Amino acid sequence: MRTEYGNFIDGEWVDSTTGETFPSANPADRNEVVGTFARSGPADVDQAVQAALRAYPDWMLTPVPQRSDYLLRVALILEGRKDEFAEVMTREMGKTLNESRADVQEGIDFAHYMSGEGRRFFGDTIPAELPNKVQMTMRHPIGVVGLITPWNFPIAIPLWKIAPALISGCTAVFKPAEDTPLCAALLTDVFNEVGLPPGVLNLVNGTGEGAGSALVDHPDVRAISFTGSLDVGRAINEKCARAMKRCSLELGSKNALIVMPDAQLGLAVEASAWGAFATSGQRCTATSRLIVHEDVREPFTEQLLDRVGKMKVGNGLDPDVELAPVINEKQKNRVMEYISLGQQEGATIIAGGDELTGDEHANGYFIAPTVFDEMTPTMRIAREEIFGPVTGVMRVGSIDEAIEAANGTEYGLSCSIYSHDITNIFKCAQQLEFGLVYANAPTIGAEIQVPFGGMKSTGNGHREAGPQALDEFTEWKTVAIDFSGKLQRAQMR
Ligand code: NAD
Repeated sequence: MRTEYGNFIDGEWVDSTTGETFPSANPADRNEVVGTFARSGPADVDQAVQAALRAYPDWMLTPVPQRSDYLLRVALILEGRKDEFAEVMTREMGKTLNESRADVQEGIDFAHYMSGEGRRFFGDTIPAELPNKVQMTMRHPIGVVGLITPWNFPIAIPLWKIAPALISGCTAVFKPAEDTPLCAALLTDVFNEVGLPPGVLNLVNGTGEGAGSALVDHPDVRAISFTGSLDVGRAINEKCARAMKRCSLELGSKNALIVMPDAQLGLAVEASAWGAFATSGQRCTATSRLIVHEDVREPFTEQLLDRVGKMKVGNGLDPDVELAPVINEKQKNRVMEYISLGQQEGATIIAGGDELTGDEHANGYFIAPTVFDEMTPTMRIAREEIFGPVTGVMRVGSIDEAIEAANGTEYGLSCSIYSHDITNIFKCAQQLEFGLVYANAPTIGAEIQVPFGGMKSTGNGHREAGPQALDEFTEWKTVAIDFSGKLQRAQMR
C-alpha cells in the first residue's frame, strides 16, 4: 500500500510547494511510521481552492441524482475494503479494530444515506397570494467550502462533511487532522477511483496553523465546516464572522450519564464503561461524568470498578483489548495533568490513574482506565473536556439535582438517563441542554440518519448528519414565477 502522499489537487496527487513533510506514527508503537505526508502552506491551499473554483460551475449544474451516483459508488467500494481500511485506522489512530470497523461502517452508511438524499433534495411549493403566480424554494450550493476534521473518527467525520457538501453542489478543499492523514488519503483515493471530476474534492495535508488557517482565511472559500476543539473553533468562528463566511462548528463536550434508583443497574454500568472508555474516551460524546443518585451510588460504583478492572489495555489490533492508546504524547500528557488536577481538587481516584509503561506498553501512549469518586460540579475535571480514559462519579439526591448538575457546564452534546420512570425521562427530554438526549442508552453511538450536534459552546447551532446536514452547505432560494401577463403588486390591497 502506498504510504507517501502529497496533496490531491485538480484530480492528481502533487507534491507540496513547501517541499516539507511530516510522519504519521502508530500511537500503540511510536516506532512504527505508517506514512509520510506533505506539510503544506498557504500556496498549496490556494492551488486547491483555485481547482475547486474551476470545478464549481459544472458541478453545481450537474443534476443532483448524478452527484448521488458518485457517492453510491464510494459507499460500495468502502464496503469491499472495510477490513483493510479498519486495519489502517487502528495502526494510525489507535482505536480497537472493532471500533475502526464501526468508524468505516458509519462512513459507508452515511455515504449511502446522502446518496439517497440526492434523489430527494426537496424544496417546497408555497401558495401565492396573487393569481397566476407560483412560488417555490430550492437549495443553492454555497460554493467552495473548506472541511477541517479531527483525528478521532478519521473516515466517518470526513464523510459527514464531504458527502453533504458534494451532494449540495459545493466543491471542497479537505484539510484532515495531522494525526490521521493516511486514512484521509485512502478515502480521497476512493473518490478518485469513482471518477469524480477533477477539482470537485481536493485534499491539502498539513498542520492547523500552516494549512488549516490558510483555508479559513482564503477569500474564495465561502464556508468552513469544522470539527475539533473549542479553542480552535472559537478562533475560526471569529475569522469567519469578520469575513461574512458560513461557519459550522462541532466542538468539545462534557457529557453525562444520570443513574436513578430505579435504573437497571447492570445496564447502566455497562453503558457507563462503554461510554467512558470506548475510543479511550476520545469521543466528543464520551461519558465523562456519571451523575448517580445516592441511593444506588455504592452498588453502582462497586459494579463499575469490577467491570473496569477487567479491561485489557493494549494495542487495538489485539482482539482482547478493550482500551487502546490515546492519540499522541501531547494528549497523554494533557490527560495525566487532568488526573493530577482532579486529585488536587479533592476528588478520589478509585480506579486507574496511571500511565502504563511496562514492556507491552513501552512504546505507546497508554493510560489505565481511570475513575474518580467524589467529583463535584465546580471542579475543573467536572467542567472541562479531558478527552481521555477518565470519568468521575458525582452524587445527587433527586432528578432535579441531576439535571442541574448535568447542565452545569458550558458544553451540551450528549446526555443519558438510566431510569424507567417516565417522569424522570420526560423531565430530561424537556430540560437537558444537550443536542442528544438518550434514555436507557449510552451517550455514544449516534446514528447517521438523525441530526447530530450540541448546544451551548459545543457548536454554533448547526447540525451534521440527518437531512439537516444539507443546511450546512446550501442556501435557501425562493423562486416566484408570475404567469398573469401583467404587473401584479403584492400587499397593495
Ligand atoms: P483540534 O481543534 O486540535 O484540531 C482539529 C482540526 O483543526 C485539525 O485538522 C487541525 O489541524 C485543525 N486546526 C488546528 N488549528 C487550526 C487553526 N488555527 N486553523 C484552522 N484549522 C486548525 O482538535 P483535535 O484534537 O483534532 O480533536 C479533538 C477535539 O475535537 C475535541 O475537543 C473533541 O471533542 C472535538 N470533536 C468534536 C466532535 C463533535 O462532533 N462535536 C467530534 C469529534 C471531535
